[in-house]
Parts: sequence; C-alpha cells; structure tokens
Amino acid sequence: MSALKELRGLDREARLLEHVAATMSWDQETYMPEGAVDERAAQQSLLQGLIHERTSSQRVGELLGRWLHDPRAQWPAQGVSRTDGEDLSEVDLAFIREKHRQYRHAVSLPERLVREMAETASRSQNEWVLARKENDFSRFKPWLEKLIILNRETADCLGYSGVRYDALLDQYEPGVSTAEVKDVFASLRKSLVSLVQRISAAEQPDGSFLEQPFPVPQQVTFNEEVMTALGYDLRRGRMDRSAHPFTTTLGSDDVRITTRYDEKLLTSALFSTIHEVGHALYELGVGEELRGTLLAEGTSLGIHESQSRMWENMIGRSKPFWQHWLPRLQQIFPSELKNVDLERFYRAINRVAPSLIRVEADEVTYSLHIIMRFELEQALISGDLSTGDLPGAWREKSRDLLGVVPDTDAQGVLQDVHWSMGAFGYFPTYALGNLYAAQFLNVMERDLPLFRESVAQGNTAPVLDWLRRNIHRYGRVRSAAELVQQITGGPLDPAPFVAYLEKKYGELYRLQGG
Ligand code: ZN
Repeated sequence: MSALKELRGLDREARLLEHVAATMSWDQETYMPEGAVDERAAQQSLLQGLIHERTSSQRVGELLGRWLHDPRAQWPAQGVSRTDGEDLSEVDLAFIREKHRQYRHAVSLPERLVREMAETASRSQNEWVLARKENDFSRFKPWLEKLIILNRETADCLGYSGVRYDALLDQYEPGVSTAEVKDVFASLRKSLVSLVQRISAAEQPDGSFLEQPFPVPQQVTFNEEVMTALGYDLRRGRMDRSAHPFTTTLGSDDVRITTRYDEKLLTSALFSTIHEVGHALYELGVGEELRGTLLAEGTSLGIHESQSRMWENMIGRSKPFWQHWLPRLQQIFPSELKNVDLERFYRAINRVAPSLIRVEADEVTYSLHIIMRFELEQALISGDLSTGDLPGAWREKSRDLLGVVPDTDAQGVLQDVHWSMGAFGYFPTYALGNLYAAQFLNVMERDLPLFRESVAQGNTAPVLDWLRRNIHRYGRVRSAAELVQQITGGPLDPAPFVAYLEKKYGELYRLQGG
C-alpha cells in the first residue's frame, strides 16, 4: 500500500472518530440530562485517545517521513520532496501539509504540558464563572497567571520566528504573523475611533420598537423561513437551541447549528441564526473530492468568521435584504411592527452605540473590542503587562477606544470566557473575519454587479454560489492568505472594511463629508 493511501486511511478513521466526538458534544450542549456529565467526560476522553493514536502515532511520523526529512521540524520553505514516480496534486500536497501540521503540533507538546493545560483550563473556567458572578478579579488572577505561563511554554514548544505570540496566533489563523495583525489593527483602530466619534455626535435612530416583547413561537417561524431561504439545507443540517449559539460538523452531510430565543430580543436570535447559518454553509460547501478528509473544513477561524459575518452584517443587516423580508416579518408581528417602515427598521437594526460588552457590540464598534483584547493579551504573553495591572489596563483601553469605562470587572476584564479556557491568540480572528469579508464583498460586487437586486427579491443564491466557487470548495486546501491573494490579488487589507463602514454608516447617520 502506498504511504499516501495508508495516511488517508488513518485520517479517515480519525475524522470518523472526531465526528463521533462532535456528536457527543452537540448532545451535551442540547439534550443531554445533567446526570450524564461524568460518563460523557469518560466517553470523550476515550475518543480523544483514539483520535490521538491515529493522528500522532509513530506510524504517522514514518509515513510523513516519505516526503519530509524530519516530520517533527517546521514545514520546509521549499515544500516537500516528491518521491520517484509520484504525481502529487494540489489536494495531495495540501493533505500532506495539513497532516504534518497536525502531527507536528501533537508531538511537539509534551504529554505533561497537554494534561496540565487541560486540567488548569477546566478548573479555571469554574473559577472564572464564580469570579465573574462575585465581581472578584483576585479570585481568577492566580488561574490566569498559570494559564499565561502554560501558554508561553506551549509557544516555546511549537516554535516561532518572531515573537512568542506568533505561535499562539498560528494555532487559530495559520500563516498570519503578529506583526502583520499589529499593522493592520493600528490603521483600523484609527479609522474606527474617528468614525465612532462622528456617529456619536450625529442624531441617533429610534429603535424603541425593538424593545417590546416578540413572542418566541412566531420568532421561530421567521427564523426558520430565513434560514432555509439562505440555502441551509435541512436534509444536511438542523437547528436546535442551546445557551450559547454554535455550529458543529458531525459529518460531510450533517452540519448543525443552534440558536437561543428571548422574547425581548428579536434581533439577537435572528442575527445569531444568520451568523451560524453562514458558518454552516461554509462547511457544507467544501468540494466533493475533499469529503471525509481533514481538508473538508474551514481553513482558519478568520475565514470562518468572514463567512458568518458577511451573511449576518453585510447581507442580513442590509437594506435590500429587509426590502424583501420586512413585509413578511410584519405579517408575523402585525401589531408590534404596525408603524415601522423600511427606513426606520433598517436604521434601528444598525444602531451604533459604544458599549461595554463585546458580544452585544454593533458592527462598527465590534472590532475595537477585539483590538483592545489583542493588545492586552500580547502584553500579557510578552510579560510587558502583569496580571495585577490587567483590570486597570482594561479600563484605560476601554476609555481610549470606546469612550466607555466599566464600573465593575464583571463588565470589564472578566466578561469573556476565552482566557479562562487558556485560549490566547483567538480573539484577533473575529476582527480578521470582518476585514476578509469586506475584501471578498468588493470582488463579489465586481463579479455580480446586480446581486443586491437579487437580495431585494429574496434571492441570495447568487451570493452563496459565488462564495462556494471562490471560497467554500477549497476547504483547507488553500490557506487564508492564499485565498485572499487569489480572490483579491493582494494581501490582507483593512481599507475595504473601513470604506464599507464609511459608506453604510455615512448614509445611515447622514454624516457630513467623512
Ligand atoms: Zn462565529
């Protein structure tokens, strides 16, 4: 049997096991009775062991050794050496590259470190929940300190050429460097702060009608109609409810989403559904030839977010979209939306208001929340900022970037779960998603000059088709940087996102000049 064939067989088994594990997690988040927690943890731990065996065993290293001089070393700049008579396609090469990445990651980290990180993160999350509830940062501080030390150690094991943070960022956004993100965010920061200031000085839209109760059963009806109209195929997915909305892939033809409903939050459920549909459409759109392999998923968290945010904000919060959907929403909520016309509705769902909480932030201020976290976590990892000084640094940045200062740490430094999970280098991917999305939108607009007219008629199929052809079908064959380069002809660039916001919000808030 050829090495490639054997490696594909092991990968297939690992993927099947990962999908079994994902099914168990999905069940845990949606329907599992509380009493099943311990047994489920044991099941997951067994599955993770089996997956590890198929992705990181000595045999995998031997097989990779057919193309790589040292499978434990970094991916060679000149690519892999091809063995006699072997004709490797773009997909084969990507497969070997991603197998190597997975293998190297696993064998670079000592078992002791992996175990310590998992145990610390799990206990730290409990402490974080309590610390947030009691508004007591000092309770979380020793855990945060330990997680920072473990992350530095992880970075050192994985290796990096610039700064330590590079290795952490690379886990979520492969191939993107800290220096590149720093540059891009510095320019984004300046533009956004200025735009937010101009918006704050303008006349604010009236969104009061959104604050009344909208009965949940009717919300469900509307969400399900929108979800299927966007092209989410219920023969290959389903929507359930969970405390925190998510998308999960359980197989090539089974990508599920969840949402949450609250009578008082019509738009929250709706836009979170559209967001998750965006993630699901990406995973469902990967090419046939990648099915069942590790290439059959989103190429990076940033590109994944570009898909969810394009659907949620650039399509879902656009005027053409509501030209079609508002009449239907008014049919479902006749008394609630009696006197609301398209203009008023459109302005209300795009209201910009600097706020303390990231997950409630609007499209304009959202990236500022991310830039702030990026700057702080870099300083924590490098040692320039101590955990003791973190709450103060948080308040200062919040004032500089958003113009608001939290009264409590619960509403400030303790609001997000990421650091308590030991995830450093994750936050920037959210803002990168906005930037990629705007870069893609520009090109899509050039290729499909009439796409807004279709959207206004309730037809988003041309958009989905464009995303499938240019992005989805490649799965992980092409990296984020390669996709951006191939689609736009240039590198990551914040200018299209800034231009998109300036245009949309300049009109919406009737800003002068700009
Ligand atoms: Zn998302």
